[in-house]
Amino acid sequence: MSTNNTNSTEIIAKSSFQEKGLEEDSYPDPSTLPLPSQEPRIADVTLSELIPGRYVSTTARVVYLRAIEKQDALGSKMIFSGILEDSAFKIPFVSHRISSPLIRNCVYKFQSAYVHEFPTERSLLLVITEHTKISPKDIEDYREYIWKPTIDSIKRPVKSVALQGIITTIHGNSGLIKRCNKCKSVLYDDACPNKCPKEEGWGWDLRVSCRLYDGSGSMKMVLTKDIASSVLQRNLAELVLLASSKKAKPLTLNTNNIQSPPSSEIILKLPEAMEVIEGVTDNASSSSYRSSNKVIIADGRNLVYFPPGEEDEHKFTEYVKRPLNISEIEDRKIVRRLIEKTLDRNKEGYRNEKDARDLLA
Ligand SMILES: [Zn+2]
Repeated sequence: MSTNNTNSTEIIAKSSFQEKGLEEDSYPDPSTLPLPSQEPRIADVTLSELIPGRYVSTTARVVYLRAIEKQDALGSKMIFSGILEDSAFKIPFVSHRISSPLIRNCVYKFQSAYVHEFPTERSLLLVITEHTKISPKDIEDYREYIWKPTIDSIKRPVKSVALQGIITTIHGNSGLIKRCNKCKSVLYDDACPNKCPKEEGWGWDLRVSCRLYDGSGSMKMVLTKDIASSVLQRNLAELVLLASSKKAKPLTLNTNNIQSPPSSEIILKLPEAMEVIEGVTDNASSSSYRSSNKVIIADGRNLVYFPPGEEDEHKFTEYVKRPLNISEIEDRKIVRRLIEKTLDRNKEGYRNEKDARDLLA
């Protein structure tokens, strides 16, 4: 998607998976894993092809790495924890082989590493056990080990992904919401769904629930307070003030993500029916009427349309008052062209809108 497209909004979205936090306590105990010898050998796979509950071989780049201390039955021990990435995906890993030092941004082949699936999120963790063989690989082009996330490439929850796309839908439950101070749930009818006592109180929060489309696919996206504020270009306090002000105007999302340019869009409320004069003429070539300074349009054959009083009706062979019904597609086209002609006639700014309103009056 082109970054020049002013309608696209660049958003760094973090999955809810990250907010929940992946606790190191939930790493599986290696002594509970099946032994690799009991499993059939899995050929080299990419990080998007890992099979939960199996031993696999994969080649990936270490994006991030740290040593952590874990407590087990034998006391405390050091393990490595971090993130692996290839061109297809990225996933967290844990290594129990601390005798094999790993280096950030280096690429390794891991033979016989165990794929653990977290039961609730269905996200994966690659477990490098005492049995895993680790061999460093010399890589000339690191681009083979960089994942460029697109929506269709996200098959499972993943942390900290930057996506770029267009917001196609904004769901009605977006905007200012009230959250319970105790359990942080969204209040419905000013009451906590978890039945927390009212004395706990509530606080304002902001969220935008929407759909993001990036050309490869679309996904539900919830913008939490900070991202929603930056997209709306208003902070929570301003929004609360705006909402409680008597002169509150409906807030619209500025998807240009820049200061609003002067809008060339005019919203007119059209009456259900209106009347124009339909005249029959011998010479209704569109061009002669297009260049006319009057609000008159031609159908390209022998009919012209204009609002009553705009043109001398009597110069036409025949003329009738014709009711236009906005719900009819052909009639709507005539109305649209008349409005466009009105706006074209006078490009001096605010009068356009007034003329268009006069036309509809
Ligand atoms: Zn609550």
